[in-house]
Amino acid sequence: MPDVIVAGGGPAGALAAILLARAGARVRVFERARFPRHKLCGDTLNPGALAVLARHLDTTPLLANSDVIDGMVITGPGGVSVRGRYGRGLSGRAITREVFDHWLIAQAADAGAEIDEGVAVRDVTATTDGGRTRINGVIVQGGGSTASHTARMVIAADGRRSSLAFGRGLARQPARPRRWAIGAYFTGVTGLTTAGEMHVRDGHYIGVAPLPGGLTNACLVVPHAHGDEAMKTPARVLDQYLGADAALAPRFAAASPAGPVVMLGPMAVDSLACGEPGLLLAGDAAGFIDPMTGDGLRLALAGAELAAAVTLDVLAGRVAPDQAHTLLAARRRAAFQSKWRFNRTLRSLVASPRGVTAAALAARALPSVFERMIRYAGDC
Ligand SMILES: Cc1cc2nc3c(=O)[nH]c(=O)nc-3n(C[C@H](O)[C@H](O)[C@H](O)COP(=O)(O)OP(=O)(O)OC[C@H]3O[C@@H](n4cnc5c(N)ncnc54)[C@H](O)[C@@H]3O)c2cc1C
Repeated sequence: MPDVIVAGGGPAGALAAILLARAGARVRVFERARFPRHKLCGDTLNPGALAVLARHLDTTPLLANSDVIDGMVITGPGGVSVRGRYGRGLSGRAITREVFDHWLIAQAADAGAEIDEGVAVRDVTATTDGGRTRINGVIVQGGGSTASHTARMVIAADGRRSSLAFGRGLARQPARPRRWAIGAYFTGVTGLTTAGEMHVRDGHYIGVAPLPGGLTNACLVVPHAHGDEAMKTPARVLDQYLGADAALAPRFAAASPAGPVVMLGPMAVDSLACGEPGLLLAGDAAGFIDPMTGDGLRLALAGAELAAAVTLDVLAGRVAPDQAHTLLAARRRAAFQSKWRFNRTLRSLVASPRGVTAAALAARALPSVFERMIRYAGDC
């Protein structure tokens, strides 16, 4: 029997597995997909995410397969544009999730974790004692069969729409905002630099990132009403938004798609708790933030560090299993609260036309404020 089962082998699950296995725990990861696999993302690791990785891993291979991102360009309506560098020698990296996630899960296997790919976690198993329920394993499905597996602790790192968090009532889809992300790779985009780009417009935004091998990632985040016909043709929607944007249209005029257009949404998730007895949540499963600030991976990786540390405390008998999720919640609040607030404030600003216009005016008058914001978003 493993000490810990990790559901999901994305960045959070892989890093949690690395830390636990290195500390001597027997770890089994169940991952629905098979690596290498694509994942819709802006494909940038900010300096903070890189720092988390460098704390635990030799990042030389990661650096070799990625490009430097030394800051962000933010543009707004009316041609306003601010470029902020991370400064002090700090940089992030641009790397496809196909390459990054594959590398990270391989590190988990090297650390001694057992990785099962092509296996979906469907539910948890639990014991009840004196009216108290405690999670003690998972039910997995794959290869045409269903099986249950027990462990002393379960970590759910199965992403934004976590089956386990939703299934246990620890997360839910709010009625609003209803925003969707549509992303694709292109070749032949012009005007790229060593900065990630966020083009904030009235009601939507478009992230653009230069990637190794002449690829460009373009990701549109746009609101839509339930049942919107336009969302049935995401490639056309992305094309329309890029083509209608005065700043981006000339730069994408000669670009060619390099792969399928991928869409996901509605994006927002309300996280109500980060676990229950026997179960801890990590990464997006514990709380998804709007991708506008480009720091989801840093929070996912840092959240994995916290979940792994609490799990090790339980395994060593330093923390009662029933207390682990409340301890994790307290540590997550202490570590992330100010960043969550920053992200929420920006999301509300972008949601209102007046907010976007005011921000554009402020950027023109006080670019240094935006440069500081870029450094804060980058977890410098
Ligand atoms: C449009 C968009 C753009 C973004 N851009 C950026 C960016 O540029 N920079 C940044 O830092 N962050 C970005 N983010 C956020 C970032 O993608 C997430 O924060 C990050 O992927 C979270 O990692 P995770 O390991 O928690 O979840 P995931 O990366 O979602 O990994 C979860 C894993 O669990 C697996 N899984 C799911 N269900 C099951 C199941 N039932 N059983 C087993 N396995 C399962 C999945 O296959 C997946 O491998 C973006 C997000 C979006 C939506």
